[in-house]
Order: sequence, then C-alpha cells, then structure tokens
Amino acid sequence: MKCKFCKEQARIKLRSYNLRLCEDCFQDFFKKRVRLTIEKFKMHSSGDKILIAVSGGKDSLCLWHVLDDIGYKTQGLHIDLGIAGYSEKSKEYVLKFARDNNFNLKIIDVKEELGTGVRELSRIAGRVSCGVCGMLRRYIMNREAEGFNCLATGHTLDDEASTLFGNLLNWQEGFLRRQSPVLKANESLKKKIKPFCLVSEEEISFYAFICNIGYISENCPLSKNATSLFYKHILDEVEEKMPAAKLKFYKQFIKKGYFKGTIEEKLMPCRICGYLTVSGVCSFCRLKEKLRIKE
Ligand code: AMP
Ligand code: ZN
Repeated sequence: MKCKFCKEQARIKLRSYNLRLCEDCFQDFFKKRVRLTIEKFKMHSSGDKILIAVSGGKDSLCLWHVLDDIGYKTQGLHIDLGIAGYSEKSKEYVLKFARDNNFNLKIIDVKEELGTGVRELSRIAGRVSCGVCGMLRRYIMNREAEGFNCLATGHTLDDEASTLFGNLLNWQEGFLRRQSPVLKANESLKKKIKPFCLVSEEEISFYAFICNIGYISENCPLSKNATSLFYKHILDEVEEKMPAAKLKFYKQFIKKGYFKGTIEEKLMPCRICGYLTVSGVCSFCRLKEKLRIKE
C-alpha cells in the first residue's frame, strides 16, 4: 500500500477521501484542511489571538496543537467542572499538554467560583446535568474570551453531523439556523469558531497518535445516556456502509445556506451581568441567585 502523494509506505487509510497516506503526508493533508476551513469560512485573520477551549479530550487538544503549528497565536482555557473522578483527570491531561508544549493556559475552577461542582449545581438548578454543564461552559468561555478576537472549540464533523441529524429529526429550525461553523459576535457574545467542523474524529485520532498527544479517552460519567452519543453511533453505522456520508450530509447543509451565522432570537441583556438572554436575568445569574438563597 503506497502513499498517494509520496509513494512511501502508506499507514493511514481515509475511506471518506479514498486516500492512503504515509504519516507525514497525512499530517500535511490534515493541517492544510484545517487552514482551508479557517479561510473558507473567514473564521479568523492571522495576527489576532485565538482563545481555545480545551477539555482534555483529543479534539480540543489536537486543535490547539494544529492551530499553533500552522502559525496562529493561541491561548488555552480549561474549565474544571468539579465532576468527581473525571474533571481531575481531564485537567491533568490539559496541564501536561500545556507544559510539554510551553503553551499559555488559563484554568477556571467552577467549585472555587460557585462553591460546588456540576452534579450538585444541576440539583440546585433543578435541571439535567448536561444542560447546566453546557450553560456554565458557554457562559464562562464567553466571559473569558474578553480581549480575544474569537473563541475556538474542538467541535468535529462527527459533532456537527450528529447535531444536525438531531435538529432535523426534531425539526428544530431555530437551532438549524444557528448551527454554523462560525457564529459572529454581537453586543455580548464573542465570535465562535469551529475549525474542525470538516474533520472527522477518526482523522483526529490518527493525528493525536502521530503527534503523541495524550488525552482523556473516556466520556463524561454524567453524559452516559446523552442522545448525542446515540446519534453519533447511528451516523457511524451509516458511514461504515457509505464512506463520506457524514461529510456530504454536513457540507450540503452548509451549501444550502440554512444557517444565518447569527443568533436571531429576541434576546435582551441580563439585568445583572449584561449577557444576552431570553428572560430578564440569565441562567448563570439565576443559578448564582439560587446558591445565595441556599447559603
Ligand atoms: P463537548 O460538548 O464535550 O463535545 O465539547 C465541545 C467542545 O467544548 C470541546 O471540543 C472543547 O473545545 C470545549 N470544552 C468542552 N469541555 C470543556 C472544558 N471543561 N473546558 C474547556 N473547554 C471545554
Ligand atoms: Zn447574567
């Protein structure tokens, strides 16, 4: 099996591109596609600093690695969500990665800030843990992105395709319009970008392996039954029978221009912190209010 580009021995097979590549050519191919994605969607202009939200999983750590490698100025942000038996390990991987690469990292500790972790916070808020966790992450990421040109997350093609699948299955048109590789900034929200939206988790695993990037491989214990994992599983089966199905599915969605790239719901600034919300006080401030009452 020979590499399509250099004719050396190929070790990597990308079924969705019908390509066999050696490790070096794969790395070049991978980096080039990320660079082209950033350019195509006008995610970022070089020079400005990107804040990268890093969870300790392979996607966001590889994203940090690639963006630095292709020449962007970056800083990492990790949110320690205080999930026992999981958050400690995740943070270890992020710390090690930042140390090994001499990268700048900021850590926000939810327990320090709110007094307790996600599990207890979801009980207090009376909402499922994934909902509270997502809300906290979005709020903190946006707040910490102050002074940066944009905020990057490690969302992959698999994430985007499964979200799209779920949104279509339930015909959530509002979500469909918001599901974009780039979300423009507005009065209170920073610009958000997903430079990995066209690369699959399989490719990212190859990249992590070749670049020797250590990461937490288990899923969050609180998300065991998440529907998104089920949708991913279904799409993996489709991909198995029809290589490139995920890429076609997501690319067609983008081509059709369904999304607007902006949040267009009627939002108003939170009375307490100014973050845009559908009600007078945002969920983060409401949670803080509940915590105060509990004290
Ligand atoms: P997930 O929703 O867990 O698939 O995560 C999607 C993206 O959100 C990741 O690729 C990261 O960029 C970011 N992210 C998730 N968890 C954290 C965290 N604890 N700290 C910082 N960023 C995170
Ligand atoms: Zn608020």
